[in-house]
Amino acid sequence: MKRLAVLTSGGDAPGMNAAVRAAVRRAAFHGLQIFGVYHGYDGLIRGDIKEMTLGSVGDIIHRGGTTLYTARSEEFRTEAGQQKAVEQLNQHEIDGLIVIGGDGSFRGAQKLTEKGFPTIGVPGTIDNDIPCTDFTIGFDTALNTIVEAIDKIRDTATSHERTYIIEVMGRDAGDLALWAGLAAGAETVIIPEADHDINDIVERLHAGSSRGKKHSIIIVAEGCGSAASFADQIKEKTGWETRVTVLGHIQRGGSPTAFDRMLASRMGAAAVDLLLEGKKDRMVAIQNNQIVDFDFNEALQQRHELDLSIYDLARSLSI
Ligand code: ATP
Repeated sequence: MKRLAVLTSGGDAPGMNAAVRAAVRRAAFHGLQIFGVYHGYDGLIRGDIKEMTLGSVGDIIHRGGTTLYTARSEEFRTEAGQQKAVEQLNQHEIDGLIVIGGDGSFRGAQKLTEKGFPTIGVPGTIDNDIPCTDFTIGFDTALNTIVEAIDKIRDTATSHERTYIIEVMGRDAGDLALWAGLAAGAETVIIPEADHDINDIVERLHAGSSRGKKHSIIIVAEGCGSAASFADQIKEKTGWETRVTVLGHIQRGGSPTAFDRMLASRMGAAAVDLLLEGKKDRMVAIQNNQIVDFDFNEALQQRHELDLSIYDLARSLSI
């Protein structure tokens, strides 16, 4: 291993820059050359590859988004696209690639390894939906963004004595909704991993109201449907007018939290170390605050598990 490359792919996540920085600086520390691939797999196919130096990752540890840019590449899903990507890597005499992204990006990385090219994945997505790792880079920042937004909405919900329904991201995973629900003290959290029944939601609203609660906050994970559809169902059952907020892409941006910078720095450096140890086809993960790694196949065959004890706790604290 003498020449490495790093790319970011899929949805951007705060902390990706810190992971790129760590990979570049760790590679330099070991005396390796490292290249940045711009625009994800699309850029790889086109050969949008430039050498990175210690200075090229200066002043980015605190910045959201990704300075390498990211993309969703349809061409890379094809055999021909993957072949072009390997040719570019070979032309640039790259020996190993670090892919920072979500599970889709890891499936792409696996294709490169199947073609004999060593790759290591670093989990970067706000959704926290990747198996085998307790946290993904970006989750903590997005969580804090959501909690801050809910705190603000709570002020107006209290003033107007209203029920607010807030839709948060997470794709098919309920982690963001659940953790934000517990941290912000929401009355109800609706996540794909737990059954939800509109009658139960209405019952909880009535119970709160009869205790004299001035407001109610309901958090809906996007994987369960739209906040607007829950607002319609509640109106139908109770006649109550609720207010809907869809937080949208503000959840993806912003300066990464210290936790995400730490996680990204540890994971980005670990990816370089794994390549140097001759490992390939593996993803970096964190479990019980230890940096560990798993075979892509082993990891991607599993389902991401959400800790349902947090769901039970959130319900018990919001009676
Ligand atoms: P996020 O979770 O933030 O959406 P992601 O990495 O899961 O991130 P995807 O859009 O699923 O995002 O994947 C990113 C890119 O990885 C795709 O645009 C595609 O180029 C590549 N990719 C995904 N799945 C495969 C696959 N099965 N084979 C080859 N390439 C793939």
